Amino acid sequence: MNEKDWLFKHLSICALCGRCKQDCPTYNTEHNEARGPRGRLLLLYEAASGNTPADQSLIDRVYSCLLCGACGEVCPSGVDIMGALLRGRSMLKGHDRSFRLLRPLVTAATKSPLLSYRFLTVFKELIGPVLIKKGLLHPGLELDFTPLHKEGTVFQPSRGKKIGRVVFFTGCAVRYLYPYLGKSLITVLNTLGYEVVIQKKEYCCGAPLLGLGLLKKTEELAYKNYELFKKLKADALITLCPTCTMVGNGLYKRLFGISLELINFDDFIVENHQVAGGLSVKAFYHQPCHLRFRPEGASNSLGLLKEMGVEITGSSQSCCGHAGTYSIRFKEQSKRMLNDRVNEFNASKADVLLTSCPGCIYQLSKAVQHDRVLHTVEVVEEAIGEDQS
Ligand code: SF4
Ligand code: SF4
Repeated sequence: MNEKDWLFKHLSICALCGRCKQDCPTYNTEHNEARGPRGRLLLLYEAASGNTPADQSLIDRVYSCLLCGACGEVCPSGVDIMGALLRGRSMLKGHDRSFRLLRPLVTAATKSPLLSYRFLTVFKELIGPVLIKKGLLHPGLELDFTPLHKEGTVFQPSRGKKIGRVVFFTGCAVRYLYPYLGKSLITVLNTLGYEVVIQKKEYCCGAPLLGLGLLKKTEELAYKNYELFKKLKADALITLCPTCTMVGNGLYKRLFGISLELINFDDFIVENHQVAGGLSVKAFYHQPCHLRFRPEGASNSLGLLKEMGVEITGSSQSCCGHAGTYSIRFKEQSKRMLNDRVNEFNASKADVLLTSCPGCIYQLSKAVQHDRVLHTVEVVEEAIGEDQS
């Protein structure tokens, strides 16, 4: 079934009740029906039926979604809202003038992330300012780190008995932009007694392609990852990126009928370990959308942090505004969401801003000094270090 037919068939069951709008961050920020899920679905239905032309203003409204998932689980009629939003992007991509250049660029970057990374680091003086001007790169980001894959592929437990073997799905953001987070994860898991395996070659989960409506290309990556990881014998496939988890599990399943069965770091620790810790720090916690709006319910990251002695002085209730290409296409709206989160953080008088997603770290570091924005894995590393010192 092509996308048009799929949309026409599945969206005809929408009762237009509006329940899905309640937690939608774009609807709640702009109070505009066409910037909420019900409005977007109606536009897609009309476009799929041929009643409305797929012009740029319709495309902008459909693409103004963060793909946060807040609308996903609440529909009383059982509409597959996320599936419809993604298929809708795919149906419209040929008419979309806004991202004509970005689509081939992102396709090339996801096909050869290492090559793109090397190109970027070698030519950063030349192309860095252009990317910054276009909003594709934020000025504070250091690009001269050593990518994580150079660190080797198997890391043995540091002491004591081995209690398990886990594979680390690094995700592109950790592997290339924030390798120090990957090192923290390896330290934590080795200290807890796990052998940690990193694949030398891993494929992008496809999230940036999905956001651009490139479903076929995402499917190619999905199957490559599936073939690669299904043959590895391990107790768990762990990641630090909730978006990789959402894509590799729920969206792969929904769109292509396969699943990587990834587990997010926070969930893995909460489910398998008690991390005692006498940390003494005041923190604000920003829960990533993809750890909050999901079929299995929100992660208990806050409980984990409190268990380690972190004093939570505030937490955010909505998206940071990153959402991949959303922050490039809708700069003003993205900035407004970021400012709201930063104002909440400042009002909380916390020392640090904690989150559990490299994408959120990227966005929040645009407005908060990078060394005050930490991933939960860094806090667990600190707590475990304290416990053993
Ligand atoms: S998608 Fe579901 S929740 Fe949203 S308006 Fe339609 S029926 Fe209501
Ligand atoms: S995914 Fe998020 S931003 Fe998009 S329509 Fe649903 S609630 Fe709104």
